[in-house]
Amino acid sequence: KQSQKSDIFLSLQLVPYGDSEKLLISRDITRFEKIEIMRRDFIANVSHELRTPLTVIGGFLETLLDSGKLEKMEQNVLELMARQATRMHRLIEDLLTLSRLENSQNSPKEERIDIVKLMRGIYQEAQSLSSGRHQIRLNVAREAVILGNEDELRSAFSNLVSNAVRYTPQDGNISLHWIQEGEEGVFFVQDSGIGIEPSYIPRLTERFYRVDRGRSRETGGTGLGLAIVKHILTHHRASLEIVSKPGHGSIFKIRFPASRVLWDGCQKT
Ligand code: ADP
Repeated sequence: KQSQKSDIFLSLQLVPYGDSEKLLISRDITRFEKIEIMRRDFIANVSHELRTPLTVIGGFLETLLDSGKLEKMEQNVLELMARQATRMHRLIEDLLTLSRLENSQNSPKEERIDIVKLMRGIYQEAQSLSSGRHQIRLNVAREAVILGNEDELRSAFSNLVSNAVRYTPQDGNISLHWIQEGEEGVFFVQDSGIGIEPSYIPRLTERFYRVDRGRSRETGGTGLGLAIVKHILTHHRASLEIVSKPGHGSIFKIRFPASRVLWDGCQKT
């Protein structure tokens, strides 16, 4: 709880006390919250400051590469630099996205998102990322409208799909599903990729946590994708479930509460 006037942050916790009573524990977490706010601001500012010079560097590298006047060795070195600049650019964009999400505590405004349209877009994105290297299937079991922020949800779905493509070897299978479970709506991505050791799963949504750093870097990962997904889902009161078996593949599931799903696109009363 944050007091509006004095900027004091209190953490309140209700715990059982004896058989029938409860104890209210109040902790002053003002210092901790202030450090946390400073950390977030610092990351946002540094990322923002790095963006402009990096765009300039990337622009000049492109110009040189397009000039057609380079020796083979120069071409190779500049291509390597351009690839690293792109990687750094992606990292900065992800850091900015994450700090934007961390700073907005409120629920997103409720747009009506047509799930069929969203799933088709995500399917096309998967095909383009895979460039024919995988078998990709789409299954929308029932039409629905989700209430949420379209940009954020597209980014969450797209993060899971891009992971499936990156961690599934050539000729593997990837399927995208939208199904109904009770009144809840579930989006999931199933892949036949490298899989994840179960003991690593609880830490996957931490910033920069990667099971295999080398592989993640090789495939263009920033280590921030699932942290971004987790923040977006918290905004939407949705949850992430991960089931995986090393060498067999993974399932990443997003479960939306009934309050966020209108089945058959029916009117909300
Ligand atoms: P990255 O940019 O490294 O992919 P993410 O936050 O998206 O970062 O994912 C964190 C880690 O989770 C990855 O480094 C990878 O080890 C693991 N991971 C995520 N998705 C999959 C998947 N579909 N199959 C296997 N491992 C995955």
